[in-house]
Amino acid sequence: MGKTKYIFVTGGVTSSLGKGIIAASLGKLLQARGYSVTIQKFDPYINIDPGTLNPYEHGECFVTDDGAETDLDLGHYERFLNIPTSQINNITTGRIYNNVIQRERAGDFLGKTVQVIPHITDEIKHNFYKLAQTELYDFVITEIGGCVGDIESLPFIEAVRQVRFELGTSNVVCIHLTLIPYLKAAGELKTKPTQHSVKELLEAGIQPDILVCRSEYPLNQEIRKKLALFCNVQINHVIESLDAETIYDVPLLMLKEKLDERVLNKFKMSLKGDPKMESWKEYLGRLKNPTSEIAIGLIGKYVELKDAYKSIAESFIHAGAVNECKVTITWIQSEDITEDNCEKLLGKLNGILVAPGFGERGIEGKITAVKYAREQMVPFFGICLGMQCAVVEFARNVLNMPDAGSTEINPGTAFPVIDIMEAQKNIKEMGGTMRLGAYDCTLKKGSKTHQVYGSSKIAERHRHRYEFNNKYLEQFEKHGMVASGVNNDTGLVEIIELTNHPWFIGTQFHPELKSTVLNPHPLFVKFVKAALTFQKNI
Ligand code: GLN
Repeated sequence: MGKTKYIFVTGGVTSSLGKGIIAASLGKLLQARGYSVTIQKFDPYINIDPGTLNPYEHGECFVTDDGAETDLDLGHYERFLNIPTSQINNITTGRIYNNVIQRERAGDFLGKTVQVIPHITDEIKHNFYKLAQTELYDFVITEIGGCVGDIESLPFIEAVRQVRFELGTSNVVCIHLTLIPYLKAAGELKTKPTQHSVKELLEAGIQPDILVCRSEYPLNQEIRKKLALFCNVQINHVIESLDAETIYDVPLLMLKEKLDERVLNKFKMSLKGDPKMESWKEYLGRLKNPTSEIAIGLIGKYVELKDAYKSIAESFIHAGAVNECKVTITWIQSEDITEDNCEKLLGKLNGILVAPGFGERGIEGKITAVKYAREQMVPFFGICLGMQCAVVEFARNVLNMPDAGSTEINPGTAFPVIDIMEAQKNIKEMGGTMRLGAYDCTLKKGSKTHQVYGSSKIAERHRHRYEFNNKYLEQFEKHGMVASGVNNDTGLVEIIELTNHPWFIGTQFHPELKSTVLNPHPLFVKFVKAALTFQKNI
């Protein structure tokens, strides 16, 4: 941790202010100035990781290369910074306690009472420092989940206080993100909630260095002065964060407000000239000046909460920009789709994506959507469960296997075309036991997918227990659904595609987890392109 500087981002007043985006934007700017940066998130809940949480509770579960099931903010970190994250980048209270309790059982603390302070806080600090021990970073940004004042985040806040004390304020900057609400009746922006939130931090022994204030309206000088005076921060350390048109505007808004400059000044570090944001600006230019527009149907069972499909939605934004095309996602609840209404629900779409998921709910609607896309030649993209639905649909309607299915949904099916993986059969524990993380995949030369990637060796991230049943592979291939990507070590089918369809691809992995602003995912880029072509031809 030698010369690494630590930046902590806490939040106050309400949740959902976008700490992850602020952290990622600051990281982006520091990186664009030539510094090495990583970001981590500490979540206050007791689950060891979000892998066992329902997406309705917590949004998408983001999977890293090393197979960690993590908070969706890590997706933002990767998409902004274009660097991979790992398990060390996301720690929960549950994991902290679990580590301490395991050590207690092992006898590491023999004779001692194990307590929140120092044992839990020491374990938190140990994890704050871990990233800087694996690689030399100029900055480690740590986002503390939840709000200051929450009972459950107290040990995190105390650990931040200790780090600030131990490393000194020349090595630690604390940024507090708050809300400045606008009271319509009074016609005024209000600073009081922020004052209270900072007071709460001060009570915990932390003086924030910088305030980032979310607001619907610009902060005038008077408001800034007031915030500075009552929160003990320099006036130029009051940073305004207005609602943005897209999250990708935030780094430039923060640049304008000089957030990165204030941080570097605080650390007495060089600005190294202007940040290199050219490619980012170019991306924004394309994003904001589309020359066409398409509608993609996203068929899923969690569509009421868009965060459940965060990475897919962001991947479409990246891919849309490449194609200078505005991608409008039509969110369709898979439970609503039937043979009778599918023309009405899907007929206007230029592409259909069947989303990942678990369990029975909405499955028949997904299969009906696949059938529609296959028969009507609509570009189709199936991800994980979406790919499995494509396999089931093909078995039922092309291969004449009437009740073909996945054993996840129908354990007694006569045609288990999707079956549990051998390695999963004896697993009893649910947490962290799926096939997780990046696996290599070899693409079939001459296949559509091979063309899309432009290479034959890829590695993509997985999160599943079920797989294509190779017993049926020959039959599928004979009738035009081919395995265009296979894992050489296990023989698992990772990608299927139709040979007699303009664009019909299903992946057992999650390509959306690797799309970034600077590296949009080729499958999304080409799917959008196929949707544009389809639109032109109808
Ligand atoms: N439920 C399926 C499986 O476990 C698909 C998982 C997913 O879509 N991520 O294989």
